[in-house]
Amino acid sequence: MDIQDDIERRETCGDYGGETNQGNPCKRNAGSGTDHVGEGRCHDHEENMLDRHDIELSKVEALAAAGLPISSDQAPDIKGYFGISEGTWSNITQKHPELREAYERGQSNASANIGQSLYQRAKNGDITAQKFYLKCQAGWKPTEGREISGPGGGAIEMQGFVSLPDPDEATD
Ligand SMILES: [Zn+2]
Repeated sequence: MDIQDDIERRETCGDYGGETNQGNPCKRNAGSGTDHVGEGRCHDHEENMLDRHDIELSKVEALAAAGLPISSDQAPDIKGYFGISEGTWSNITQKHPELREAYERGQSNASANIGQSLYQRAKNGDITAQKFYLKCQAGWKPTEGREISGPGGGAIEMQGFVSLPDPDEATD
């Protein structure tokens, strides 16, 4: 079959492989109801966008765990990692809520893992880990020491107080 014939023939969703529930080729116009009218399947039979853009949910999860934002103007983000534009990305996330679910799963798993290892260190006697764990877990706050000083870190001038001799000098 000639390739040109193959392209010209693709006018309906069914030509791109879209099938009705009965398993017949869909007769709607190609891309009907989508942002790619005239090409591809109709809105109801659209291909999996995750597959089309090679987005693996397990990878999204791993990137989320590594701390990459899902979408950011300032920093490297997950859509950039997959080389996807802003508009397409918003389509994908709308059509595939499992994408955000994978992202959130990655984030909470990471927190859980770090929490677990912090807990292990605390149990093994790491004082810093213990303090941090208690702070997070129980709202525990260490007693804070405060030092008060005068201008430039010097002594505070006291006015109206009787000046006592320094005890060290008094022994002379
Ligand atoms: Zn269709």
